[in-house]
Amino acid sequence: MVLLSGGMDSCVCAALAAREFDAAAAHISYGQRTEARERKAFLAICDRLGIHDRLLVRNEALRAIGGSALTDPDIAVPVSPVIGHAIPVTYVPFRNAHFLSVAVSWAEVLGAEKVYIGAVEQDSSGYPDCRPAYYRAFNDVVRTGTRDGRIEIVTPLIGLRKSEIVKLGLELGAPFDLTWSCYSREDRACGVCDSCVLRLRAFQEAGAADPIPYCEAVEKVKV
Ligand SMILES: [Zn+2]
Repeated sequence: MVLLSGGMDSCVCAALAAREFDAAAAHISYGQRTEARERKAFLAICDRLGIHDRLLVRNEALRAIGGSALTDPDIAVPVSPVIGHAIPVTYVPFRNAHFLSVAVSWAEVLGAEKVYIGAVEQDSSGYPDCRPAYYRAFNDVVRTGTRDGRIEIVTPLIGLRKSEIVKLGLELGAPFDLTWSCYSREDRACGVCDSCVLRLRAFQEAGAADPIPYCEAVEKVKV
């Protein structure tokens, strides 16, 4: 099974999983600004990749807890952020543990032995729950806390540069046109939040065109 947010990394991860297995995919809404757009992307990507077994669930805790620009309307999503320094305000506290818990629970019920997640350490925003050590530790928890102890969380993209993920996605025929990465808008991608900036830079470095629509000012400078 694969955790599929609808962004470019999870889309490539889902394409990898769907190539290897008869995959199942889960999407988690947690009160993030763009959750409706993400769900639309999730369903379209599943359709394109032939993933029929789908789980759409809602986590009420992360929105109620807040503390992130993605879940608290009073904290603005930063524009032109400095990437690679302090952990940015778009970090959702311990979010991936919630996601992985849902995924591992569902994997146990499905009888799935691999949980794919498109976490990326390189060229990322510096979120602590995207580091390899975190997944090694989480796998210990999963081995200890599940019925058969056979489920493994796999992070095939974690050591790749973002531009390498674009190239891999193009090789796999991952449907980038259906993905959504923007943190702040649902009509056209803003092009200035850290997710948009990292994505645009990745496509540029890969020498490929990003097929999703951006706000006009960004379209003019896009590759
Ligand atoms: Zn954006």
